[in-house]
Amino acid sequence: MSDKKSMGKSREYGFETRMIHAGTQPEPVTGARQTPIFQNTSYVFHDADHAASLFNLQTFGFIYSRLTNPTVAALEERLANLEGGRGGTCCASGHASQILAFFALMEPGDHFIASTRLYGGSITQFGKTFKKFDWQVDFVDVDDPEAVRRALTPKTKAIFVESLANPGGVVSDLEALAAIAREAEIPLIVDNTMATPYLCQPFDWGADLIVHSTTKFLSGNGTSVGGAVIDSGNFDWTASGKFPGLAAPEPAYHGLNFHETFGDMAFTMQAHAVGLRDLGATMAPMHAFQTLLGTETLSLRMERHCANAKQVAEFLEGHPAVAWVSCAALASSPYRALAEKYLPRGAGSVFTLGLKGGYEAGVKMVEGCELFSHLANIGDVRSLILHPASTTHRQLSEEQQAAAGAGPEVVRLSIGLETVEDIIADLELALAATA
Ligand code: PLP
Repeated sequence: MSDKKSMGKSREYGFETRMIHAGTQPEPVTGARQTPIFQNTSYVFHDADHAASLFNLQTFGFIYSRLTNPTVAALEERLANLEGGRGGTCCASGHASQILAFFALMEPGDHFIASTRLYGGSITQFGKTFKKFDWQVDFVDVDDPEAVRRALTPKTKAIFVESLANPGGVVSDLEALAAIAREAEIPLIVDNTMATPYLCQPFDWGADLIVHSTTKFLSGNGTSVGGAVIDSGNFDWTASGKFPGLAAPEPAYHGLNFHETFGDMAFTMQAHAVGLRDLGATMAPMHAFQTLLGTETLSLRMERHCANAKQVAEFLEGHPAVAWVSCAALASSPYRALAEKYLPRGAGSVFTLGLKGGYEAGVKMVEGCELFSHLANIGDVRSLILHPASTTHRQLSEEQQAAAGAGPEVVRLSIGLETVEDIIADLELALAATA
């Protein structure tokens, strides 16, 4: 549970202080300063009454680590605090966070609107796998707010976008999208993975839920797959009558109504007590620990990621083998104004370039690097390279690939924290191989 952004007794702490201290304090029994890894499945009840009140959700506490665990809870509180949200729910992966978010909102036959420019795995999850739950999606170009408005139906339960889209250089107009969502009485869900709360604060622009793949910049070290859903606590789940999962009697808890009982913690309580309990996509305590360590250096890493990425993008823009670079840090980017508004500290470190030599050149480039690692991840301290059309986006049709900014000539870079001259030299070498 987070007190939104304030956690100091005497003052509201800054982002850097909160990324080190929010959600954690010295362990009370031993005084251990770093958060212990509670590698533990279950917790002893004081007596039968205590057990009963925990199971009835009348007392907060730990029962079983599929639902809650102290190390995971520390990360949940830290992430909620950094996003300026009311509560957080960590889970097994970024994809699990998307299932948890929609599971609370959707009934079979319901519908949501998602941006065409999303991580390819999300497009597959929403467009194919979610159909098995009878959850329908329309992918819409969110640069056109009127198109989003036109796609609304009485069954629409959410709008989903990435603040800074993966794979490259696209910034969503969060304020405009939040206004449409508000009119339709549905939440705006923002995947803030690529930006992190250091670069973008979606709740300040009217978003209602934030999802994360903590696998990326939040852990930053390439060790731990994980996810999180953060709730702003601001959405009224009762007003429209559209969200029975949060504002109607829950049979498994003797008819408890989450919104009536828990107010602005309704989503977070439901996500633990029903979502994690029944979907079982729990974050491991070790992964929560690794991610807590990552968050302690988030601002420093993001600053260097952004500075290196901007320099690399400028170099690539002038290279003869490169047709275009899609990076919101570049003065030439059509998303520059939105980046200045929503990402004032930097436009992230993941972006795409198009090679004049097409698909074949993409394959040669990823194979021509020495320093870059050719793999399917982003947000690591190491520089990473990927050819989406032959990997992450290969399940998509050619139209979907193009709409997602992942056509055959596209290469995605995630710029790491190495010496920037070394990064540029490696790309020079790889581009020479495409000739
Ligand atoms: N969202 C974005 C923007 C991503 O880049 C990814 C993975 O690359 C995901 C969600 C899914 O996260 P995970 O791989 O942790 O399930």
